[in-house]
Amino acid sequence: MAAATMDKIVSLSKRRGFLFQGSELYGGLQGTWDYGPMGVELKNNVKRAWWRANVYERDDMEGLDAAILMNKLVLRYSGHEATFSDPLVDCRKCKKRFRADQVDPNEKCPEGGLHNFTDNLMFKTTVGPIEDEDNIAYLRPETAQGIFVNFKNVLDSTNRKLPFGIAQIGKAYRNEITPKNFIFRVREFEQMEIEFFVMPGTDEEWHNRWIADRVAWYHEYGIKPENLKQYVNQPEELSHYSKATTDLQYRFFPEREEEAKQFDEVEGIANRTDYDLTCHTKGGKTSFKDGTALQNEHAVLKQTYFDQPTNTHLTPYVIEPSGGVDRITLAFLMDAYEDQKLDGGKERTVLHLHPDLAPVKVAVIPLARNKPDIVEMAKRIKRSLQSTGRLRSLFDDSGNIGKCYARQDEIGTPFCLTVDHQSLEDHQVTVRHRDTMLQDRIAVDALERYLEERLRQ
Ligand code: ATP
Repeated sequence: MAAATMDKIVSLSKRRGFLFQGSELYGGLQGTWDYGPMGVELKNNVKRAWWRANVYERDDMEGLDAAILMNKLVLRYSGHEATFSDPLVDCRKCKKRFRADQVDPNEKCPEGGLHNFTDNLMFKTTVGPIEDEDNIAYLRPETAQGIFVNFKNVLDSTNRKLPFGIAQIGKAYRNEITPKNFIFRVREFEQMEIEFFVMPGTDEEWHNRWIADRVAWYHEYGIKPENLKQYVNQPEELSHYSKATTDLQYRFFPEREEEAKQFDEVEGIANRTDYDLTCHTKGGKTSFKDGTALQNEHAVLKQTYFDQPTNTHLTPYVIEPSGGVDRITLAFLMDAYEDQKLDGGKERTVLHLHPDLAPVKVAVIPLARNKPDIVEMAKRIKRSLQSTGRLRSLFDDSGNIGKCYARQDEIGTPFCLTVDHQSLEDHQVTVRHRDTMLQDRIAVDALERYLEERLRQ
């Protein structure tokens, strides 16, 4: 089944509280989006699922949470100051060059449609009370650099041996020239990145393993295989630090006629070689594509690895799976969305989200809103399920039972529990399953076990 169009998700998001335009009350701020009550739960669940698979369920990974504001020297030696603050930008389609301060985002591209500009100007700010050149700091344009400049700290504090990785989730900022397509291209976003350090010579094998692992993760959480594609970057498309990059592309634009154009990047998995650790090391060197280089005169120590078996200091190679939380969240939303036609001519919209990702696991609905005994029992069940700490539960008396079911289907709640008159007598509730709409009658005492067997969180 094809993915839903982005338009459907935009409208569902506003209606059900997944996403709102940033600063909407004042006319908005382009390239920013605010996650609403459902959006924040979904996004947190996406991050938790990623962290669990990549940190907790492996034995070769450490976590990190580095600062967003970075010393400008980090971004100078990473190569970003030269390549990411370029006053010139290219159109990805017609390859023409433009001055960044003079581009017209509405200008037609000779290749069709509007220009698709490369961008990536860094956001600058000043640190401390005096606004001058010396006090400039950057908001990081990727989380990766926070990992590279902490390589030695993590190595020394954990005594890791190669191969091992460092994982990080956090905000990144790019002053994109044409933010567009909802949360696909924004100026403030979040990344989930891993820098996986390996022995030189084993990098290609690890690159392939990471591509396979990441694809499996998307499939496990419900992305349909036909909507996820691997794209191997051509040599001229590679970033200055990369020896090889495979992008995972999702079918974000199913409405486009040409199949290849329906897909765009959700995650990049790059072989960054020893580029970054060679840049960020005492006496190191940052090399640029045009053949020029920058000698590192500021780093206070050498970031190398001591390999005991060979008694040598070496610079590890790095494999980087780098995904955008917002794009990944959007892909999960699009893939889960279905406008269903039911028997009897009825219709419903349902999000078939993986239960781990669903913002709410259980909604407890009193069948009669004006019956205090029923309402009280429903609230008690909600509190008791919530107190497990694992089952995000919601008391929902926002409408009649049909309205409540429709609302819960639209936010992807796997289970609705209905408390009715009979429940007061027999201490049982009706459990309705989101995908099949089948119903079971379950004893209140058995609910926790029943739900936990069917959910994992
Ligand atoms: P694109 O070519 O689409 O601009 P990129 O190649 O510059 O993306 P990377 O630098 O590889 O992106 O960043 C890694 C991931 O971060 C991307 O796969 C994407 O999911 C996410 N990302 C990058 N830029 C943005 C943005 N402006 N808005 C939302 N997510 C982004």
